[in-house]
Amino acid sequence: MGQFLPFTKQVLKNLFSAPATTQYPFVAREYPERTRGHVDIDKDNCILCGMCMRSCPPGAINVDRAGKTWTINRFDCVQCGYCVEKCPKKCLSITPGYQEPGPEKVNYSVDVPYEPPKPAAKPAAPAGAAAPAQAAKPAEAPAPQA
Ligand code: SF4
Ligand code: SF4
Repeated sequence: MGQFLPFTKQVLKNLFSAPATTQYPFVAREYPERTRGHVDIDKDNCILCGMCMRSCPPGAINVDRAGKTWTINRFDCVQCGYCVEKCPKKCLSITPGYQEPGPEKVNYSVDVPYEPPKPAAKPAAPAGAAAPAQAAKPAEAPAPQA
């Protein structure tokens, strides 16, 4: 009988204390502030430089400069944080909350509003300046003798 006492004590303790687990998914999980959940982007500050794409070990990020999109495959991301470190505009962050499980690897993509700076216009020529001289025509070759 004595051997059951420690077990009985634990059962009684558990009966009158709060559960150690949460009733997921009925109770929403509260993530600690510094949880490495998923990568987020502040698209208004992104300059489409591609540093995040080049620094991502599993190749989870794609930056399309021509199409002006930033895309991440969250199923490939390992939350290492390199992209956040490398971004020169500090527009990436790792925020709490994980990618929900699913049968397909769905990409998350955002349209980036960045407009690249236009090349500076050439300064206008001063009034009265001579037009650039035309390239001299090469001398015509003499006609062959008959
Ligand atoms: S956290 Fe790491 S794995 Fe995830 S996108 Fe950034 S660099 Fe890639
Ligand atoms: S998120 Fe940052 S590193 Fe990635 S393309 Fe935009 S500015 Fe560059």
